[in-house]
Amino acid sequence: MKLNKPKTLDRISSPADEATRKVAFLDLRITDERERQELLSAVEAVFRHGRIVLGPEVEQFEQKMARYCGRKYAVGVNSGTDALFLTLKSLGINPGDEIITTALSWVATANAIALAGAVPVFADIRDDLNIDPASVERLITPRTRAIMPVHYTGKVCAMDEIMKLAEEHRLAVVEDASQAFGARYKGRVAGQFGKAACFSMNPMKVLAACGEAGLVVTDEKEIYDRLQALRYNGTVNKETCVEVSLNGRIDTLQAAILLKRFDRLDGIVSKRREIAGWYKELLGGVVELPAEGKDSFDVYYTYTIQADRRDELKAFLEEWGIETKIQHPYLMGQQPAYRQSSRGEYPNALRLVKRILCIPAHEKLERSDVEYVARNIRRFYQ
Ligand SMILES: *Cc1c(COP(=O)(O)O)cnc(C)c1O
Repeated sequence: MKLNKPKTLDRISSPADEATRKVAFLDLRITDERERQELLSAVEAVFRHGRIVLGPEVEQFEQKMARYCGRKYAVGVNSGTDALFLTLKSLGINPGDEIITTALSWVATANAIALAGAVPVFADIRDDLNIDPASVERLITPRTRAIMPVHYTGKVCAMDEIMKLAEEHRLAVVEDASQAFGARYKGRVAGQFGKAACFSMNPMKVLAACGEAGLVVTDEKEIYDRLQALRYNGTVNKETCVEVSLNGRIDTLQAAILLKRFDRLDGIVSKRREIAGWYKELLGGVVELPAEGKDSFDVYYTYTIQADRRDELKAFLEEWGIETKIQHPYLMGQQPAYRQSSRGEYPNALRLVKRILCIPAHEKLERSDVEYVARNIRRFYQ
């Protein structure tokens, strides 16, 4: 079906400016003048002290993050992918070990597992797009070593059930909390549940660097020590290589930027939650909206709706200048790289992957943008 922009409808029912209106999915420009000055002076300070590699800002940032997550230790690394990969290495995963994760995540989750030498096993998801503990339980075998729940869309998984399963079967839990910094479940923050938890602070994330960055938090000294070595070619005392690894150090400039951004997090999260509230008010009954149960405090890394005729809706919104994304169009097990080499069971994920659509919900949007998006979604279904 060809979707033409309905010109007549436009003239009848919309303000004249709609024809040129654009709603971007994300806006990474730093438009707030005070924030710009703050970040520039943070960068300037690094230039001046000159400790560019693992400078003082790295440790300050690590301490801030550990405290926020109620953890003893934090290790800054180069990316969320590195955080996951190095954490699995620090746990001593062996070839052939299986790690159960969700079917629906950015492929970095599966890549970290595979690169650590383990086999990713993909569990099904619930309608809230997070891993289904009942499916995890069915997939446990004698080879299973760990569970890697992903707090997808910025909502913490059903961690009570996951932790109970892990305890019963003596499995490690490593949280992929890349999308969920600041989110809570039963009053506890993302990153506070597993043996270790991994964050990404890439520019798209809610707490974002101006480049690549990641972090691991844990309460275990052994994991912490091992990660210190693993993030720098497996070396201790800078020169002695005790195990094979890569260079995954966090950049001091990014840590300096993140320290500043950290202080703005509450504001960012409340704006995203406000936008979620607006969508709920404007789109109730039109499409399936993300729901927040009484145990959850979500940060809305993405605002992911579930829609009939999803691809047509996406194309329609694009005609109206509204940028949307499908995160993600493939389940990890459907990716060419994993078709042959993974195992799993995920009928609900196969159904939902055809329905999900992330609509603009970043913190720079105004009420009128959200109204415009909602109005056009309603228009599509009329
Ligand atoms: C962003 C993301 C990652 C990877 O983080 P990078 O910093 O981009 O390497 C891993 N898992 C999930 C769920 C993510 O959203």
